Amino acid sequence: MCACSGVAQQTKFITFSGKGECRVCGAKYTARGMAPHMKKHMAKAFGDPDRFIIRIDQGPQGPFWMYVQVSTEATFGVLDRFLRAVWMECCGHLSEFTVGGKSAGKRKRLSAVLSGGAGFAYQYDMGDTTALRLTVMGRSARLIDLGGLVRNDAYFPPPMVVGEGKVRIVALHEKVRYNCEKCGKAASYVCPQCIYDGTGACCEVCAPSHGCGDDMLLAAAQSPRVGTCGFEGGSLG
Ligand SMILES: [Zn+2]
Ligand SMILES: [Zn+2]
Ligand SMILES: [Zn+2]
Ligand SMILES: [Zn+2]
Repeated sequence: MCACSGVAQQTKFITFSGKGECRVCGAKYTARGMAPHMKKHMAKAFGDPDRFIIRIDQGPQGPFWMYVQVSTEATFGVLDRFLRAVWMECCGHLSEFTVGGKSAGKRKRLSAVLSGGAGFAYQYDMGDTTALRLTVMGRSARLIDLGGLVRNDAYFPPPMVVGEGKVRIVALHEKVRYNCEKCGKAASYVCPQCIYDGTGACCEVCAPSHGCGDDMLLAAAQSPRVGTCGFEGGSLG
């Protein structure tokens, strides 16, 4: 069963709904279902189409995904800083965008390289690489000012502003729950070794008795980089 079915995914290690929330109106969809939904907002948006709406995910299966609105005149460097802040940064590794098989320099403007429907790729850390897939949904006028309309629920952070407000999250996956390997309660830590076998989530109580030692445990982060290198979480948790 895959995440696109929208049925809650449950393994011993992780539980996630497969859905996420639109920050413009609060509607809930799967990552895939969010695409036509965003297109409706984009069609209704009024003004200059000076933004790209971009879906960012790990491929079709992963629990972590978002849609962002970014100025078409922003550079790849701005997008890089955003991704580092929300999902990636552990210790200042190199990163790279690839468009059509070619590396896109950080000083290049998105509008010089991207167009609607284009897919591109991002890699952070050329050793323990975390790879992301980015898909341009199209150009859009600015979607409704998010500040006033976003529901202030537990997970959504305030609108993410990076590079003079050039990047904003307009849809985000629901929070992923890690299940403690021993007691099944919500885990705060993951083991960077055991995670490769789909185990090793630990709650506060059970962490000290984890077989690999509790000094190597990392934060059970809301990010595709969870359990990698020294990653302790980004601005989304
Ligand atoms: Zn919506
Ligand atoms: Zn690192
Ligand atoms: Zn436990
Ligand atoms: Zn372990």
